[in-house]
Formats: sequence, structure tokens, C-alpha cells
Amino acid sequence: KTFEELGMRVLDLFRLYALNFRKPSKIQERALPLLLGNPPTNMIAQSQSGTGKTAAFVITILSRLDYTKPHQPQALCLAPSRELARQIEGVIRSIGQFVEGLTIQAAVPGAVERNAKVAAMVVVGTPGTAMDLIKRRQFDTSQMKVLCLDEADNMLDQQGLGDQCMRVRQMLPTVQQVLLFSATFPDQVNGYADQFCPNANEIRL
Ligand code: AMP
Repeated sequence: KTFEELGMRVLDLFRLYALNFRKPSKIQERALPLLLGNPPTNMIAQSQSGTGKTAAFVITILSRLDYTKPHQPQALCLAPSRELARQIEGVIRSIGQFVEGLTIQAAVPGAVERNAKVAAMVVVGTPGTAMDLIKRRQFDTSQMKVLCLDEADNMLDQQGLGDQCMRVRQMLPTVQQVLLFSATFPDQVNGYADQFCPNANEIRL
């Protein structure tokens, strides 16, 4: 299959970003038609690292945004460490560099000044910092559409992180699409994953 056949709205931009992305990776080919469908549906996707998971959820996030509201947080992507959050932020910036009006902000420790507002469409961060910002009303979640967890196995497996993720999830009542991406889904996180991401399409490669 080609990217065109997967029906991507941000496809041209993606192709520009990825001149060497000749065709979708396997996970992209399987996941994107489901991820980009309407109405939005939840997804639990398992595929090894290095198989193109990040691009799959980044394309999904970019396709869901209302570009007339550049300062309104609409998507939140969470990762277990600030390093990974920064990496994902980098991928969103690369793919998004051709998307006019896209705004991105990191929500990792120290990135948002006290009393400053989160004022970007896409927020990428760690669960603890995201939760703090929401609680302090620096992060307006009233128009959130997408919540994505990368390395979901790591996040949902650890007592503290898993609880923080769940608390964040509960503070985002308007979210229409929850995405869990991970290289593995060990048995002990499957129950939690289903609770976190109900009625999901599941892809395991
Ligand atoms: P990830 O699994 O998200 O960490 O991606 C691994 C690497 O694959 C990254 O360097 C991406 O730039 C690259 N990549 C993602 N999608 C494709 C694609 N369709 N074709 C070729 N490379 C890709």
C-alpha cells in the first residue's frame, strides 16, 4: 500500500519530511486507516521500536487538530522520561515543520514557568508535570481531543507512573481518541491498558 491509499490528510507534509519514506512501514499501513477514521477510535498498538510507531501517532495527532486555535491545547502525548518526551517533540517538529500554524510545547520538569499558561495545540510531556500543570490551571484541558501514551508498557507498569497517567486521563473528559503505543504489552499491563483505552482497535505485530 502507498501512503495515499491510507487516506492521509497531512500526507504531503509527511512525504516532504520523509523524502526517504517511500512507503508506510508495516505498523503505519495497519494502523493509519484505523487511526485516521471517523469517528475517532481508540487504539492499542504493539510493534517493536524502530518500526515507525512515532510517525503513526504524530500523523494522527496532526490530522485531528483545529488549526484555527493555535493557543488551545488539543492533544497530549505522554512519555515515561523527559528525554523521550523531547525526542517525540522533535519528531512532531520535523513532521510538522510543513504544517502551517502548528504549535507545540513541552510539559517536562522546568519547561513551563510557574504561572505561565500552556499555549500550544500539541503538548508533549511526562505524566507528573502534565498533571501538575492541569491542577494549577496552567493547562486548559477543556478542548483536548487526543491522548497518546508512548512506551505504554513502561508507563502503565510502574505504580506511580500508571496512577499519574490514570489521573491525567480522568482530567481529560473531552478526549475522543486514546492511543497506546508500545514495543511490548506484558500480561500485567493488559488489564490496565484496556481500562485506560476501552474499546480499542488492537494491532500486534
Ligand atoms: P520509531 O519506531 O518511531 O522510533 O521510528 C524509527 C525510525 O524509522 C525513525 O528514524 C523514523 O524516521 C523512521 N521511519 C518512520 N516511518 C518510516 C517509513 N514509512 N519509512 C522509512 N522510515 C521510517
